[in-house]
Amino acid sequence: MLLLKRLLAWFQPDTSRPLTQTWLAALWMGLLANWPLWKQLQTLSLGLGFTLAFAGMVTAATGAVLSLLAWPRVIKGVLALLLLTGAALAYFIGTYGIVFDPSMVVNMVQTDARETRDLLSWRLLASLLVLGALPAWWLLRRPPAPAQGLGKRLGGNLAAFALGLTVMVLLALSVFATLSSTMRNNKSLRYMVTPLNAVYSVSAVAARNLAGPKGPPAVIGADARLLPRAEGAKPPLLLLVVGETARSMNFSLNGYARPTNPELSRLPATQLFSLRDVTSCGTATAASLPCMFSPLGRADFDPGTPQENLLDVLQRAGLAVLWVDNQSGCKGLCDRVPNSFTTQLPAGAAPLPADLCSGDECFDEALLHALDQRIAALDPERLKRGLVLVMHQMGSHGPAYFKRSPPDLKPFQPECRSNELQQCPREQVVNGYDNTLATTDRLLARAVAWLQTQQARFDAGMLYVSDHGESLGENGLYLHGMPYAIAPDEQTHVPMILWLPEDGALAASLKPDCLAGLRDKPASHDNLFHTAMGWMGARADVYKAERDLLAGCRR
Ligand SMILES: [Zn+2]
Repeated sequence: MLLLKRLLAWFQPDTSRPLTQTWLAALWMGLLANWPLWKQLQTLSLGLGFTLAFAGMVTAATGAVLSLLAWPRVIKGVLALLLLTGAALAYFIGTYGIVFDPSMVVNMVQTDARETRDLLSWRLLASLLVLGALPAWWLLRRPPAPAQGLGKRLGGNLAAFALGLTVMVLLALSVFATLSSTMRNNKSLRYMVTPLNAVYSVSAVAARNLAGPKGPPAVIGADARLLPRAEGAKPPLLLLVVGETARSMNFSLNGYARPTNPELSRLPATQLFSLRDVTSCGTATAASLPCMFSPLGRADFDPGTPQENLLDVLQRAGLAVLWVDNQSGCKGLCDRVPNSFTTQLPAGAAPLPADLCSGDECFDEALLHALDQRIAALDPERLKRGLVLVMHQMGSHGPAYFKRSPPDLKPFQPECRSNELQQCPREQVVNGYDNTLATTDRLLARAVAWLQTQQARFDAGMLYVSDHGESLGENGLYLHGMPYAIAPDEQTHVPMILWLPEDGALAASLKPDCLAGLRDKPASHDNLFHTAMGWMGARADVYKAERDLLAGCRR
């Protein structure tokens, strides 16, 4: 009888105890919030036994880590937060095939309301309610924890931690051969383990931020200067268009079968050069942008050691620099140079046309609005030496591609009208995406037309390059942001386009046919800093001619 009572008590655990709450929540999150992981394991056909062992490992590891936090007045809040986080992650991992690593935390911190709005959906709400809010609500209504001495509670927590680890190790050993080969061949699996992926990634970013000294970025190119220009030569104007989420393989200029570049294709081949083999520095805006504008290149760039960038060096050399942004901002790159959002109009400018903007979002064509007034507001002495105008596009930012092309520019039909891409047939996702590229094509063609109006005053040219690519459902992956080492080509290969009119002074200084030879030469974001410096006739100790795409073409 006593035994039965004991047994019953064991099956009816005292849910007011922090450790009990911890392990119940670990069980819930480990098994349910990881449904995308179980689905992924199923597609790898590793058998039910392996999946069960893996689920047990995930649950044991989650329980072990959280046992260390199983203190009264602390644990309920922690668990509620993690339950909601796990529910949101389950939705995003399950819907878009993304993985959650430290760079994803940086992206989230730097994102803005517009981008967040694009990701919201009823399914996300349902996931949050069922997987997160429901158990969190139950948990928060548990009675207060029974009194227990500090030492005893600490001992209990440590014992639970050790027990969890032991179970995990035993389970891992039981399927060791399959486990080691699976984890080696599917590196993204580890970033799918929810919510430990969030705990790990947030801690890693926090540790990096706490460790790094806060202060102004280190000065680079202190000796920046301009090379002497020929008597009477016009100052150079470089329009640097920073694209967003455009992938190289969907540009018809690079061989794509659909006409995504109808307008640029009409420009003479003696002026327009599309480089077909260009790799990005990162797979997300927050990783790529600072690296693109750094002289260091992908191998040496360290986000934890802030340095000045291309714009600081160009400005120090005496040039006028202006950043115009149609996205969530310049990630600190333009902090020390004149900068503006498309929605902030300079004095004397006409209002933005109504069909260009709705709410707080404008089509990229707003970047071409009021340029004369924006330039007139810059230092005239600097303008005489030259101008670097940066335009930061909204481009093909997903998942709501359909919002990025105006109604009159949707040649590919029908397009997916949802931000839940997996709910649309894949052709419709690609249609919506290709429409955003046609929109960028028209923007760049109109930018060239504007540059042609500046030829009397400047020696004008354009360099367009995207920050990273995009997955459109290949192997079940959507969007971008995969860890670089395992990212597919779709996310790391970006378009880069040069427009250089042959009657300009820069083109005249280059060997004929040399530019055409760049089309199939491998290039990367590593080239951007040095090419822009060379283009503007700027020099500094950090400039490396071997990374300047045009240096080899100079007469
Ligand atoms: Zn981006």
